[in-house]
Amino acid sequence: SSRLPAMAEAAMAAPVPPDEDGDECLPQYRHLLSPDLLAGQVAFITGGGSGIGFRIAEIFMRHGCRTVIASRNLQRVSEASKKLVAATGQQCLPLCIDVRQPQTIVAAVDEALKEFKRIDILINGAAGNFLCPASALSFNAFKTVIDIDTMGTFNTSKVLFEKYFRDHGGVIVNITATLSYRGQALQVHAGAAKAAIDAMTRHLAVEWGPNNIRVNSLAPGPITGTEGFRRLGGKFAEKSNHFSVIPLQRAGNKTEIAHSTLYLASPLSSYVTGTTLVVDGGSWLTSPNSFSALLGIASSSAK
Ligand code: NAP
Repeated sequence: SSRLPAMAEAAMAAPVPPDEDGDECLPQYRHLLSPDLLAGQVAFITGGGSGIGFRIAEIFMRHGCRTVIASRNLQRVSEASKKLVAATGQQCLPLCIDVRQPQTIVAAVDEALKEFKRIDILINGAAGNFLCPASALSFNAFKTVIDIDTMGTFNTSKVLFEKYFRDHGGVIVNITATLSYRGQALQVHAGAAKAAIDAMTRHLAVEWGPNNIRVNSLAPGPITGTEGFRRLGGKFAEKSNHFSVIPLQRAGNKTEIAHSTLYLASPLSSYVTGTTLVVDGGSWLTSPNSFSALLGIASSSAK
């Protein structure tokens, strides 16, 4: 009998779920899991108006979840919400918050609870990043990334704890990164900020476990169709065949990150807490970490 070429066979064994570039919903979606996996639940997603957060909102809604998407730019989350509702038929409440300002989070969580009466899941996705050597990084630039990523994750988690999770339980997924695992060049700010979040994940998992709150991190690798990918030199890396060193030979997509987040947010992972799920095709193990090569990427992506 004729055998499929090895590559085609491998592709059938592990198909890559399709994605759309930009902040658009998927034109088609094939459920791999039950469409009612998150039925009746509500997710509060910071950074849900764009990139990875937008796709997480979409995939959760396609599994029966209602969502709150919250970030600084109300117009951005409002437009995103319209697209998400149109594609999924679920409710989505867009709200304005700055995760550096706890009172804005308090107001948004109050409004979300007024609207939906419950919040089951918190996704801490809000973050800021750029490539910059430590020697050129201003004191303020370092502080800003810590403020948004690390402080923002703590602020939002604490508000959700006080307002709802302490008494009802809940699930928190923090979107982090693998940057600190090997001291990624030009990323001391984001690497330090995300490493602190992974530590926070373990501390809060321990302290809040008795309240039936699970806390985990998800660390994506390079993900196409995102602001992060563009700013961190993704196109440059694509052209220079950089992805051939990744064990899975490619960048990931937003749908793949959303699927792994769905696992961590759903009862599929009911006994998983205090851990970091790396979703990077094995990238951090093998990708080059050359200071001079990355400086080339930084200057080319700044153009
Ligand atoms: P993105 O589209 O730029 O998402 C960042 C989001 O955070 C935006 O929606 C932004 O909305 C929001 N945000 C920024 N500052 C905020 C603040 N002070 N308060 C509230 N919201 C704020 O980027 P992305 O690439 O999809 O990244 C999403 C997450 O994945 C981030 O945590 C990132 O570190 C992580 N990640 C991404 C990659 C990648 O390849 N893309 C790799 C590893 C990790 P506003 O501007 O409206 O506030």
